[in-house]
Amino acid sequence: MEYEGQICRAPMERSSFMLPIMVGCSYNRCRFCNLFRHLRYRELPYEQIEGELLRVKKAGGHPRKIFLGDGNAFAQKDERLIYILEMIRRYFPECEEINMDATVTSIRKRTDQELKEFQRLGVRHLYLGIESGLDDVLLFMEKDHNQKEAYEAIGCLHEAGLTYDAHIMTGVAGKGRGRENAEALAEFLNRTKPAHVVNFSMFLHREVPLYQNIRDGSFAPASERENLLEERCLIELLTAEVLYDGFHDFIEFRVRGRLPRDREKMLARLKQMIGRTPETEVYSYVQGECPVLERCGAEHRSAVYPACGADQR
Ligand code: SF4
Repeated sequence: MEYEGQICRAPMERSSFMLPIMVGCSYNRCRFCNLFRHLRYRELPYEQIEGELLRVKKAGGHPRKIFLGDGNAFAQKDERLIYILEMIRRYFPECEEINMDATVTSIRKRTDQELKEFQRLGVRHLYLGIESGLDDVLLFMEKDHNQKEAYEAIGCLHEAGLTYDAHIMTGVAGKGRGRENAEALAEFLNRTKPAHVVNFSMFLHREVPLYQNIRDGSFAPASERENLLEERCLIELLTAEVLYDGFHDFIEFRVRGRLPRDREKMLARLKQMIGRTPETEVYSYVQGECPVLERCGAEHRSAVYPACGADQR
């Protein structure tokens, strides 16, 4: 299948068969997100989806895991999603997991029975963009949920036997609020117990509304060093058993491990990186339109904002 847009999925899904069922994101409003802004959202026809299943089958594929793309695939109408899940089962009855991104709203609009039906049809992991532990940040970033709604939705998921994984974003609360966000997020994650936590630390893109907020002064970005400090605080406070994977693409740093087992190792790695990261001037920033990840190379990034030098500890 000719793939449209950026392939974006959690690292746990890297070996999954990526099956697009739509193009873009039906929500497409998160203030920081540029993944699908350049695409017109549309559902792919059943024939096209079935054609892809057939192609992989004929090529001898027998995927154990399938990831449905693109953004927020769980928001598809019940009838359509069930049709697609049943089609997958016909082609690949041996498939053990069908996973996808979801929003809190896409879970809350389902009854307990409907969620259980998705579990019966093979859905296992839903990746939720939790991003922040602070309601005012969620509101500002135009996420489609607040904390209370997220707690309720995740409770329903667990009841239905589905697994939830959290996407978070250090830096999302802005300059000087990393520690506050880390504390709130740790409380949320400790209570909701995701299987995986993936931190895609904030990148600033010119294409997104957040960039205008930075220009007009209504959002002050955190530096990379602040983001590392925020992550250190979060890892110190996480008591839930989770597989943690944190990416800071701009400074090419990744910290991962199983918590609580690997906490000390992860903290030591972060300490080393914090020591190497200047207190000032380093911001994740991508210049120009960036619909293709390959274009986000060194020539497209620069440190543009004046120093803030905030150490939150
Ligand atoms: S729901 Fe996900 S893909 Fe859609 S706009 Fe928000 S962050 Fe981007």
